[in-house]
Amino acid sequence: MSFPKVGDHIDSLDTPSMIVDLDLCEANIKKLMDRLLPTGLNIRPHLKTTKSAILANKLTKAGARGGCVAKVSEAEAIAAAGFDDLLITCEIIGPAKVQRLVELYRKYRNIRIVVDSEIGASAINEALLSSGIKEPISVLIDLDVGLHRTGVKPGEPAMALAQHIAGLKQLNLIGVQGYEGHLQHLHDKEDRREQCLQSMQILTGTANSLRAAGFKIEVVTTGGTGTAEFCATVPGVTELQPGSFIFMDTDYRNAVGTFYSNSLTLLSTVISQQGPKIVTIDTGLKSLTTDSGLAECKDSRYAYGVLGDEHGSLSWETGTPILGVGDRVEMIPSHIDPTVNLHDFYFAHRKGIIEEIWPVDSRGKVQ
Ligand code: PLP
Ligand code: MN
Repeated sequence: MSFPKVGDHIDSLDTPSMIVDLDLCEANIKKLMDRLLPTGLNIRPHLKTTKSAILANKLTKAGARGGCVAKVSEAEAIAAAGFDDLLITCEIIGPAKVQRLVELYRKYRNIRIVVDSEIGASAINEALLSSGIKEPISVLIDLDVGLHRTGVKPGEPAMALAQHIAGLKQLNLIGVQGYEGHLQHLHDKEDRREQCLQSMQILTGTANSLRAAGFKIEVVTTGGTGTAEFCATVPGVTELQPGSFIFMDTDYRNAVGTFYSNSLTLLSTVISQQGPKIVTIDTGLKSLTTDSGLAECKDSRYAYGVLGDEHGSLSWETGTPILGVGDRVEMIPSHIDPTVNLHDFYFAHRKGIIEEIWPVDSRGKVQ
């Protein structure tokens, strides 16, 4: 079989294949930009979702400036694929990773990083000092605004870290990052808004204290799909990092509603009939993640179940049109980021005709 090409119909794709409805995906981008660009804030979408330089460039064309990645290896892949204005949002710890960062920075000077410890900041500073690279790297203090995952604590610890960074020649402190990941999926919108505003008080309050102490804090970056609109109302926030909005998933849809639509599905084939009201499809744990519940069939009359690594079931009630061997269905992922990470390509189509094929550039780049 030859590799699919632009102009082919999605009916000719082998399965499982990740397909993107371009009308819906473009509408999601437009909705986000229409909602957030008028605030004047910088939009730096998190590319941990798409893992794609092509999509990063599309987002930039629509109004975004820069992107975020989670890991150094992700930054390597996305930069090599043509998009290098990147903030790496996870801490970079350990000699191997720090050395990779140095080599990345040698090639791409638009890379920004976060730190949350003196030991982490010092190690990067020393590696840069011995690299011969002259320009200091732009650094943001990662602040814990309630997620308790990473981030220095607000108040004295954040101030002490800023003072430490000020003494490191190859680090240039430019801002603060505080990601309220624990709030993204709160179902109650008012609750999500209120708790988000509390996290934003911690973030902007810390930025102000640092400024009062003489530090130049230009970037205050935060926000995800579930909170960006609330973060954007807070004076002092300068940048937003939503990611999932571009494709969405059932977990996000259940939490925040259908303002953004599910634009990505996994095309699957019925490979076996197991009863009058149950069939097996070629989509299991290796193609759809289950950490956030089960994927759903786009046609909600068919209920999905996991049958192992390569298999899943679809079952239905009496009276529903039956599925048979060879039929094809579209599955909506429950958690988009780790699901995308299982696939090599997106087939982007409009009304079934493939218009673009995008590689998942940083697939598997977890280091
Ligand atoms: N910023 C950071 C630091 C993240 O870890 C994430 C997602 O995990 C995001 C932004 C994007 O959030 P979402 O995909 O919920 O829009
Ligand atoms: Mn996620």
